[in-house]
Amino acid sequence: MAPESYLVVGGSGFLGRHIVKQLLARGDNVSVFDIVQRYHDTPFYSGDISEKDQVLSVLKRCGTTCIIHTASPQHGLKDPSLYFKINVDGTKSVIAAAQEAGVRKLIYTSSAGAVFAGTDIVDADERVPYPEKPFDAYNESKANGEAAVLAANRQGGLLTVALRPAGIYGPGDRQMMQGMYDVFRKGQTHFQIGDNNNLFDITYVENVAYAHLLAADKLDTPPPSKPLSQWPDKDEYSLE
Ligand code: NAD
Repeated sequence: MAPESYLVVGGSGFLGRHIVKQLLARGDNVSVFDIVQRYHDTPFYSGDISEKDQVLSVLKRCGTTCIIHTASPQHGLKDPSLYFKINVDGTKSVIAAAQEAGVRKLIYTSSAGAVFAGTDIVDADERVPYPEKPFDAYNESKANGEAAVLAANRQGGLLTVALRPAGIYGPGDRQMMQGMYDVFRKGQTHFQIGDNNNLFDITYVENVAYAHLLAADKLDTPPPSKPLSQWPDKDEYSLE
């Protein structure tokens, strides 16, 4: 089989850049599609995912076989309409362009927020439903974008998968450390959430990036013989 040709959408961003670096390190053919250029070590295509024709022309030019779509406006914007424009309509245009260009694989960076409804989630897996009342516009748009990606699996020759990181930290972060610094700068350091035993899942960025490479590599292997609905309850198996 011909070697994979990757297009990292949002490849100038925090996570996208780590994905690009890992693909380059293993000698893969990789290009970046983003609205801003921050690096110069791969072919770069300036464009907006909400413009399907822009995505399609790049896919055709690059001969892309695998899209890793990490693009999103950052959490915390005042205008919610941008989230729906980019994360929902933009993601749908990536799907349509991928199908039209004959791309084989689409890996989508979703978010743990896709299933967050404002209350604790413990030991969850893929069976947790989307909340009836979304927590906020960002999380709702991530859930809708994810749902579109998953519904496109095996449609028009495309294989799709979505990953749901929670918080991501590490070199190049422009959100988490900035938020912590702002809290520190405002002197808001004496507060407690809940009974001080709350847990939050944060993952090192290189591990999240590696998960995307693994998802891409494994996407054409057959799924487990049992559908997810028939997997044992979590009480019946051990993760140790
Ligand atoms: P980031 O802002 O650093 O990177 C996103 C990139 O997407 C940027 O380079 C931006 O220019 C690009 N982009 C935005 N709109 C675009 C558009 N219309 N067309 C093309 N490119 C566009 O964000 P990040 O922290 O690297 O997040 C990457 C992905 O991971 C996002 O989908 C986000 O929802 C998800 N995620 C992030 C976190 C986190 O803690 N950072 C947690 C969970 C999920």
